Amino acid sequence: MHSLTVAVLPGDGIGPEVVAEGTRVLRAVAETWGHEVALREGLIGGCAIDAHRTALPDETLRLCREADAVLLGAVGGPRWDDPAAPVRPEQGLLGLRQSLGVYANLRPVAVHPRLAAASPLRPERLRNVDFVVVRELTGGIYFGEKRRERLDGGDERATDTCTYTTREIERVVRAAAELARTRRGKLTSVDKANVLETSRLWRRTTTRVARDEFPDLALEHLLVDACAMHLLRRPADFDVIVTENMFGDILTDEAAMLAGSLGVLPSASLGEARAVRNGMRRGLYEPIHGSAPDIAGRGIANPIGTILSVALMLRHSFGLEKEGHAVEAAVAAALDEGCVSADIALPGERCWSTEEIGRTIADRVANLATQAGRLKLSLDSTTGRL
Ligand code: NAD
Repeated sequence: MHSLTVAVLPGDGIGPEVVAEGTRVLRAVAETWGHEVALREGLIGGCAIDAHRTALPDETLRLCREADAVLLGAVGGPRWDDPAAPVRPEQGLLGLRQSLGVYANLRPVAVHPRLAAASPLRPERLRNVDFVVVRELTGGIYFGEKRRERLDGGDERATDTCTYTTREIERVVRAAAELARTRRGKLTSVDKANVLETSRLWRRTTTRVARDEFPDLALEHLLVDACAMHLLRRPADFDVIVTENMFGDILTDEAAMLAGSLGVLPSASLGEARAVRNGMRRGLYEPIHGSAPDIAGRGIANPIGTILSVALMLRHSFGLEKEGHAVEAAVAAALDEGCVSADIALPGERCWSTEEIGRTIADRVANLATQAGRLKLSLDSTTGRL
C-alpha cells in the first residue's frame, strides 16, 4: 500500500470540470488497490489573481513542493487577457514549472481506433501512430528576457530572447533518449539549425550526447517546419521526438489533431530522476489543452486528457505501473463503448457529459481490477497455488 499526497490545482475555465473527473478516477484507483491518497487543493492562474493578486500564491507553491505529485487543470481566459495587466495567469504556470524544476515535458500521442474518425487525417495515415514528444519546459524564449521600448516617431519595439545552455539541452535529450530506449529506439531531434544559434547548439549537443551515451539509438534531425509537415505525412514513423520549449508547444497542438481532439492528450512534466522522495519522483501532470473558455461551465469538456495524465502520474511519480495501465485500459474500454464527449463524437452520436465520462472510466477501473483479480485467482488455482 502507498500513502500519496497530491496537490490539486484546478485553475480556470474547464480546469475545475476536468480535474474533478481526474481526481474521481484517482480515488477509484486508491480504493481498488488500497492506496491512501490525500488531495490538497490550491489556487493558480486567473482565480489566484482574483483572490490574491498573484497567479502563483506562496501557499500554492508550498503545497506543491510538499506533495508527491501535482495535478493541474488549465489557466487563463478572456477575463484576465488584458495585455497591459501587471499579472497574467500564464505566469503562474510558468513559475510553477520553473520552481519545481520540471524540465522534461512528456506528451504521448496515440490514436485510439474509435477516434480515428474524429481526426481530420485519413484513417490509413493514423494506423500505428504511437509516439511521445519530449518538450523542454523551463528554458528558451518563454523564459528569456522580455523588453518593450518606445522608439522615436512613436513606434514600439518588443524583444523576446531565446537562450539555451549546453546543460539544459543535455538533460532533456538524455530524458528523451532514456525513454526511446524503453520503446522502439528511435529519437528525432527537432530544431531550426539553419537559422537560429540556439538550434545550432541544440543540434551539436544532441548529436554528441546520442553518439557518446546512446549509440544504440537511431537519431534523426529535423527542422521544425519539416517536422510540422512530416507529423501529418508520416506520423507512424515517429517514436520519441525531443525539442525545445516553443517548438514543442506548437507541434503538440498539431499532433493532438492526429488523436482526434486537444481534449484527449495528457502530459507529464518531470525533473531530475535523482529528485526522488520516499521512492517517488515528483512531477506535474496536466492535460495539454487550455482553459477552453468557449465551453467552460457547460459540463461538456472532454476529461480524458486529465484522466490519462493521472495514469502518467501513477506510473512516473508513484511507480504504480499496473494501476496506470488499468486507467489507460479503462479509458480505451469506455471509448470502445461509445462514451464520447462533443469534441470527438461523430455526427448524430450521443455526446456524454464530462461527469458521465469520468464516472464511466472510474467504474471501469474497478471492474478491470476485479476481472484481473479473478483471472489471477483462476490461473493460480490451475497451478495449485492460491
Ligand atoms: P484551448 O486549448 O483552451 O482551446 C482550443 C479549442 O479546443 C477550443 O475550441 C476548446 O473548446 C477546445 N478544447 C480544449 N480542451 C478541450 C476539452 N478538454 N474538451 C473539449 N474541447 C476542448 O486553447 P485557447 O482557446 O487558445 O486558449 C484558451 C485559454 O487557455 C487562453 O487564456 C490561453 O492562454 C489558455 N491556455 C492555457 C494552457 C494551460 O493552462 N496549460 C494551455 C493553452 C492555453
